[in-house]
Amino acid sequence: MNDCIFCSIANRQIPAELIVETDTLVAFHDLNPQAPQHVLLIPKKHIATLDGAGDEDRAVLGDLLLAAAEIARRLGFAEAGYRTVINCNQNGGQSVYHLHVHVLGGRALEWPPG
Ligand code: 5GP
Ligand code: ZN
Repeated sequence: MNDCIFCSIANRQIPAELIVETDTLVAFHDLNPQAPQHVLLIPKKHIATLDGAGDEDRAVLGDLLLAAAEIARRLGFAEAGYRTVINCNQNGGQSVYHLHVHVLGGRALEWPPG
């Protein structure tokens, strides 16, 4: 997927400061943060949406959530609390069609989302 911005970040074709890199995922700071802490985690494999994930992606989906929790602890906002978000398709507000988990922390977040 040459035209996918998140594949380009995962492949290091576009420079980004990676917070974490494992065999299956990378994490980096969101370009346009919506909270004092706003991290994105993406699978190295191009999966366009959560709706497009399949049984073969079970392990990497688990990796993403466990890594999100680990990053929140490491960056120091786990105990205060945070939110993980996966936007899916148009009504979900997805703008980059490479599956990603948002981790938002560092302030009290409102509910319900807009
Ligand atoms: P979505 O709206 O698809 O759930 O979230 C996409 C997120 O990716 C947005 O929060 C946006 O700010 C972020 N984003 C888009 N392009 C880039 C980029 O090139 N670098 C980084 N670090 N974040 C990006
Ligand atoms: Zn991609």
